[in-house]
Amino acid sequence: MAHYNPSVSSPSDEVNLGVSVNPHAKPTDFDFLAVIGKGTFGKVLLAKLKADGKFYAVKVLQKKVILKKKEQKNIMAERNVLLKSLKHPFLVGLHYSFQTAEKLYFVLDYVNGGELFYHLQRERCFSEARARFYTAEVASAIGYLHSLNIVYRDLKPENILLDHQGHVVLTDFGLCKEGIEPEGTTTTFCGTPEYLAPEILRKEPYDRTVDWWCLGAVLYEMLYSLPPFYSRDVSEMYDGILHKPLQLPPGKSQASSHLLYGLLQKDQHRRIGAIADFVSDSLEVFVIV
Ligand code: ADP
Ligand code: MG
Repeated sequence: MAHYNPSVSSPSDEVNLGVSVNPHAKPTDFDFLAVIGKGTFGKVLLAKLKADGKFYAVKVLQKKVILKKKEQKNIMAERNVLLKSLKHPFLVGLHYSFQTAEKLYFVLDYVNGGELFYHLQRERCFSEARARFYTAEVASAIGYLHSLNIVYRDLKPENILLDHQGHVVLTDFGLCKEGIEPEGTTTTFCGTPEYLAPEILRKEPYDRTVDWWCLGAVLYEMLYSLPPFYSRDVSEMYDGILHKPLQLPPGKSQASSHLLYGLLQKDQHRRIGAIADFVSDSLEVFVIV
């Protein structure tokens, strides 16, 4: 009987992984040590590459689950992202990818400083100086993605990691995110709804400015310890995001208030970043001061 090789599958099952693909790689190259994250499409595992003993974070996605979630479109989006080779100091490095008949594997840098919001939860809120530092690094990464015509869309606490030096590392960019749409304003969303821009809640077409809204939400939470418009009652929170004017508790600098009003602007055409994206003067005000 012919030996079944799981890495060989019919062409229709193959996902084009673009430049990152390593045709020789296979799951048994690794010792999988622990689950470090679980998400919608699969999990992220801490793994040791047997060949060199180095640690990696390996994101494993089930093809079946992706396809079930009407994600043909999604794989295309993912492919488009992976076809570009992304390199930026504040984006997680993708070493290579491979696939078996059932799964896609993305071999990423293992980022070991924890999620930014793990630290925020412990310390409740950050000083303006510290919040400015993280905001600047996230903005720089988002600006880079936008320059490649990639909308991140999913900026939220658990996707912002810190490395061992304390720098920001955005993870989870473009890996199967495009297709996760809100199911309706009264039902649950995939992921946390706190960071969703009004236009996404309204299921309207969105553009890169959604990311600047999310950056505003993250900055707000870093300064004030809860996301803007936060309520335990989700429909009240949606109502706030959609309709209530932003109110900032006093005690912060004018620069940070200016930036928050600009980023958390409900009208995406008037939002900071709508015109010149990352190079917009207003973004620089806070980030450079
Ligand atoms: P999902 O698409 O399911 O949200 P993510 O790529 O965000 O998956 O990964 C899930 C979690 O795994 C993250 O929130 C983070 O805590 C952890 N994680 C992801 N990538 C890495 C990495 N490169 N290094 C360390 N931890 C990671
Ligand atoms: Mg994630």
